[in-house]
Amino acid sequence: MGLLDGKKGLILNIANDRSLAWHIGISAIAQGAKCGFGYLPIPRAERRVRNAMEEGNFAREWLFPCDVTKDEDITSFFTAAHAQFGTIDFLVHCLAFANREYLQIGKFISTPRDVFAQALDISAYSLVALSRAAAPLMPHGGSIIALTYLGSDMAVPGYNVMGVAKAALESASRYLAMELGPKKIRVNTISAGPVRTLSAMAIDGVDEMFDHVRRKSPLKRNIDGDDVGNTAVYLLSDLSSGVTGDKVFVDCGYNRVGV
Ligand code: NAD
Repeated sequence: MGLLDGKKGLILNIANDRSLAWHIGISAIAQGAKCGFGYLPIPRAERRVRNAMEEGNFAREWLFPCDVTKDEDITSFFTAAHAQFGTIDFLVHCLAFANREYLQIGKFISTPRDVFAQALDISAYSLVALSRAAAPLMPHGGSIIALTYLGSDMAVPGYNVMGVAKAALESASRYLAMELGPKKIRVNTISAGPVRTLSAMAIDGVDEMFDHVRRKSPLKRNIDGDDVGNTAVYLLSDLSSGVTGDKVFVDCGYNRVGV
């Protein structure tokens, strides 16, 4: 018996076999879920993502392009998902973007208006747009989760405009939880510690971050993708039936210690 037996859901977006979306997909499928995945349609992305899915033994799962800056992409993604799955039980928002030139220590104050707006659009507004499209496919309720980071609560060197975007994402998740609660749709976030993915490597000083977490966290290690996948399964399953509008830290306890 899997914790997600009989459940269907959408996970956006996979870039490669290091993506947290990839890890969450593997954990969800291992617990019995049927998953559909999104990817950003840039040159050679589909081949890379299909290879990653093959690597994870889930090459047969549904895959469809979606650039969240384009309303028409979101519409066609959910139209195709509806045709494929009918209804769904969960949505995983696992995507973000900020111009890496401004993810450098000492450069937050230089963030131009368009870089700020782009980071907020892709990394935070997209949760609102995707939730709006997903809710009609959840007539019996469901679970929505989004991935965030401690840089929303604290000024983390190098995280910069992405920290502001994550604060907006977390706030959006609470408003969505309030509005979607009567439809039995829960909305939560996972605040993950650093993991070596494509996005994480764009952050200035990320190696120091890994070192710091390993030395200072109560569990004396960094997290891995499975840690995030396991918590995602809990939040997507009925085990968390009374939990919404919340944020769960998966960071080996790092956020709880002072230096
Ligand atoms: P990743 O690079 O594998 O994933 C980021 C995804 O965002 C990619 O699939 C990329 O294609 C997608 N994306 C970027 N612009 C997009 C757009 N316009 N439309 C649609 N998709 C777009 O890195 P990841 O670390 O797996 O990131 C997944 C989520 O986890 C992000 O929200 C990230 O902020 C969050 N997170 C990561 C860490 C970490 O250390 N890796 C820690 C905490 C939170």
